[in-house]
Parts: sequence; structure tokens; C-alpha cells
Amino acid sequence: MIHFLSEKLKPGRIFRSIEQIDFRSLKAQGIRLVLLDIDNTLVHHGSHLPDAYARRVVESIQNAGLVPFIVSNAKQSRARSFAAGLGIDCIGMANKPSASGLLRACRQAGIEPSAAVMIGDQLFTDILAAKKAGVLAILVLPLDSREVWNVAFKRWFEAPFLRQYAKDPTLWPQP
Ligand SMILES: [Mg+2]
Repeated sequence: MIHFLSEKLKPGRIFRSIEQIDFRSLKAQGIRLVLLDIDNTLVHHGSHLPDAYARRVVESIQNAGLVPFIVSNAKQSRARSFAAGLGIDCIGMANKPSASGLLRACRQAGIEPSAAVMIGDQLFTDILAAKKAGVLAILVLPLDSREVWNVAFKRWFEAPFLRQYAKDPTLWPQP
């Protein structure tokens, strides 16, 4: 059971933080669209406005010639104000792990799912949704360890899978 689930939830790659991702090399691999989770991926949980870190990440995506696009389970109003602060498009209330929000973002951007990547910090939402949508899945470690209770609860279920992935060198491209 754990093995079956672990394949279902296995990201394509894992990075310690989104800042460590080489977006130019993703571009060289044919990626054109970067779908982004908000909480604990771009900012600490619950922030309504992007900070310098989030802005720097979005700039590095754009400088690599890729299109950044927020796909978040946050309320529509919060996702919109966050994306507007970055000057990029968004889908709020995306219902991850459903693939629908990711696929809508691909349609809206006019880019095939096979040329998209989803970057997020949660196996059971971001990574599962990415795999269902047929986009490359990149897991980043959460920015914040002080999390709201429902996220902390999910982490407890994520732990055995993460321990297994930690042993897989193919998932960790950085030295
Ligand atoms: Mg998140």
C-alpha cells in the first residue's frame, strides 16, 4: 500500500527551496509554464501580499523566458490580490489535488500540460494534482515550520513518503 501510494505521490524532483530551481534548465527541457503554489512555497503561510522573496522568484522565472501562473487553493480574493501584486495570472480555489485548476491554467495560458511544471510544498495537494494533470511535479520543502493545524496534520502523513524520497538520489539534482 505504502509502495503504491509512494509512486502516486512521487515528485519528479525535490528542491530545498524554490530559489534553488534552475529555470533556464527547465526551459531547455521544453518547459514553458510554471504553475505556482502560494503558501509555504512563495511566502509564509497566510501572507496576503507578495514579499521581496516571491518577487525575486517570479522575476527569475520570467527572466528564463517562462510564464509564471499562480494555482492556489486559497480563496479567490486572496489569490487574486497576491497574483496582482506580482503582475501575473492566477486560479484561486483550485481544489488541488484535483487536476482541474492546473488544466484550466494551462488552457488559459495556451500551453500544453506536457510543457508545464507545478511547484508546491505539499504531496497530497500540489504533487498529486500535478501528476493527475500530466505536468512535471517539483516538490519544495515548506518555508515555514509553524503551520496551521490542518497542514501540520497532513505533514504527519507525508513523513513516511518523504523519508523514502530522501533516499532517492534521482530526485535531488542539487549537490
Ligand atoms: Mg502550500
